[in-house]
Amino acid sequence: MATQAPARPGASSAAGAPAVRLTGIRRTYGEVVAIAGLDLDIADGEFFTLLGPSGSGKTTTLRVIAGFERPDAGHVELQGRDVTNVAPSERPVNTVFQDYALFPHMSVVENVEYGLRVKGIGRKERRERAEEVLARVRLPGLGARKPIQLSGGQRQRVALARAIVNRPPLLLLDEPLGALDLKLRQEMQVFLKELQRELGITFVYVTHDQEEALTMSDRLAVFNEGRIEQIGTPADVYEHPETEFVAGFVGVSNILERDGRRFIVRPEKILMTETGDGEAGVVKEVVYVGGFTRYIVDLDAGGELVVVRQNLESSSQDALEERGKRVRLSWRPEHTYDIGRDRA
Ligand code: ADP
Ligand code: MG
Repeated sequence: MATQAPARPGASSAAGAPAVRLTGIRRTYGEVVAIAGLDLDIADGEFFTLLGPSGSGKTTTLRVIAGFERPDAGHVELQGRDVTNVAPSERPVNTVFQDYALFPHMSVVENVEYGLRVKGIGRKERRERAEEVLARVRLPGLGARKPIQLSGGQRQRVALARAIVNRPPLLLLDEPLGALDLKLRQEMQVFLKELQRELGITFVYVTHDQEEALTMSDRLAVFNEGRIEQIGTPADVYEHPETEFVAGFVGVSNILERDGRRFIVRPEKILMTETGDGEAGVVKEVVYVGGFTRYIVDLDAGGELVVVRQNLESSSQDALEERGKRVRLSWRPEHTYDIGRDRA
C-alpha cells in the first residue's frame, strides 16, 4: 500500500496548496485562440472534470498541465511549485489518452512496468508493483497476454495501470472512455470513480459528455471557446447554470423570456396538466423514451419548453395520443434560474 509522505522542510509540495493552479493561461496557434486566459484551482484529491464541446480548449489545458504545451502567458503550479518551465518528464503527473497507446509487441505486464524500467527500478520490484497494480484495475493473471488479446475495456485498464504504477499524485485523463460502447463506458465510469477514491489521488478528467461529467465529478469546469463559463459541483452547474451556454450544454436548454426576465426551467421540474393554472400551450412533439416520455410544448405566449414525464402508468400509446393536445404548464418559482451573465 502507498504510504503518505510526511510533510518536511524542503519538500517540493507545500502543505495545503492546490494540486493544480493555473493563472492567466493563454495558448494560441497562429490565429486560433485555444485558451483565452484561464484561472483554475484544483484541490488535492479532487475528481475534477473539464467539460465542453469539441474545440473548446480542454485537451490544450490538459497538455499545458502535463507540460506538452507551453503557454504563451501564465503560470502552472503543481502542489505549490511553479512548473511552467519544467519538462513533462520532471512533473509529478501521468496522462491517460483515449487511444491507450499501448506497446503492441510487449506483454501486458511489460507495458505496465515500462515506466519503472525507464526509471531504473530493479526487475523484482518492477514485477511486484506491476502485478499489484494489475490486481487493482481488476486484471489479475492477464499479465502475460499481448494487448491484441484483450477487449477494449481491458486495454483501457492496462493503460490506467501503466499510468498509476509509479504512483503519481496527479492523473490526467483525456476522454479515456471515448472509444468504448455505452454499456462498457458506464461500467468504467463507476470503476474509475472507485479507483480514484481508493488511490486518493487527484484526477483531472476531460470529457464532452455531460452525463459522464455530472455522475463522476466532485467539481467541473464548463469550457466554451477557450474560456471557463462556470465552475462548480454537478448540482450547482445543473441546477444553477450561470450562463445560457451552460444551461444549454449541461442538460436541456429550456429557456423562456417573460416580463423582460430570461430564465431556465428544467424539463423534470415542469408539471403538465390539461386544465388549471400556468402557461397555456399545445403539445407539438411526443417522444417515448421507455422509462419516461419527452414532450415539446409550444406556448401561446411565445417560446417552447421540453417537459419530461415518468411513465408511471401510461403506455407508449397513451403518450402518442397527446400530440396536438392543449395543456397547461406550471412550475415552482424556486425551480427557475435567471440567466444574466452572458458574454455574447
Ligand atoms: P478540445 O479538446 O476541447 O476539443 P482542443 O484543446 O483540442 O479542444 O483545441 C482547442 C482549439 O485549438 C481548437 O480550435 C483546435 O483546432 C486548436 N488546436 C489545438 N491544437 C492545435 C495545434 N496543434 N495546432 C493548431 N491548432 C490547434
Ligand atoms: Mg480534446
